[in-house]
Amino acid sequence: MRGYSASESKLVAAWPAAKRTAWLLRHFGLNPRKSLGQNFLVDDHHIARLVEATLAGAPRQVVEIGGGLGALTVPLAQAGVALTVYEVDRRLAQVLQWLTEGMENVRVVAADVLQVKLEGGREVVAVGNLPYYVTTPILEHLFNASPPFGALVVTVQQEVGERIRARPGTKAYGPLTLWCRFYAASIEVIGRLPATVFRPRPKVDSLALRMVLRRKPPAEVADAASFFAAVQGALGHRRKTLLNSLRADARLQLPAGREAEVVKRAGLDGKRRGETLDFEEFVRLGNALAAERSVAADGGHGNGT
Ligand code: SAM
Repeated sequence: MRGYSASESKLVAAWPAAKRTAWLLRHFGLNPRKSLGQNFLVDDHHIARLVEATLAGAPRQVVEIGGGLGALTVPLAQAGVALTVYEVDRRLAQVLQWLTEGMENVRVVAADVLQVKLEGGREVVAVGNLPYYVTTPILEHLFNASPPFGALVVTVQQEVGERIRARPGTKAYGPLTLWCRFYAASIEVIGRLPATVFRPRPKVDSLALRMVLRRKPPAEVADAASFFAAVQGALGHRRKTLLNSLRADARLQLPAGREAEVVKRAGLDGKRRGETLDFEEFVRLGNALAAERSVAADGGHGNGT
């Protein structure tokens, strides 16, 4: 950055996050952009927990989504891990570059992470205090990295975090829960981050999660598309029973009247509500649906064809 020396950047990088953030905003004349979800974490205790969760298991590489003003970038860089940071806001990417000047383990990329083809790996961890406006697209992008990341450490709005972690039968349990369970073998809460630990302060609290990702889809799932179709079909009409919810879902493309057979084949009671099914039961329902679809594709059910 023009007018600021590298030795000065080392000094600033060593400050507590709150002081550093305030200084960077003031000295570089930056206004946080709400439209980019810019709420900067300024609490060193929470930062330390997120860094610890990221470095658990000594990853070979860390990929950070949305470096901001360096709350996580700086301590991760100082820990010496190979770090790639994506930041869509060019002004902030310049500040990150300046804060990590001369550190050969750090690569700052000024780019929209959604436009980047991400490569994970068993020993690669992705971390981010995710911008709220694109949480789901970024999660999807992280889940679809090839090869998959070993783990994700993400901070999301509390309400979203609770949906991700929800148990069957609760109001929060839904497609987002099952979608994350499909990709993550385990999901652990690292901590709750009150709105007060961010600048500017968001309207809601956040939840930090660590997900250990599966190397490949759960072995017992016959067909991913049928699994997700079963989730949509069973949870599409929450006030209906499982059987009636499946009947009401035109997208399932089942031959008329075959829903009861699918439910039976899955070993489930059609009078239950879809939201009481756990992950394994959804796997069975998805597999029964896949089997039914393949019978239909092969010419039907003994109707003379
Ligand atoms: N990691 C910093 C922290 O904890 O203080 C910043 C977190 S802030 C909630 C989210 C950051 O993501 C912002 O710096 C924002 O500019 C950046 N961002 C938003 N959309 C992005 C995208 N599509 N690709 C990369 N970065 C993005």
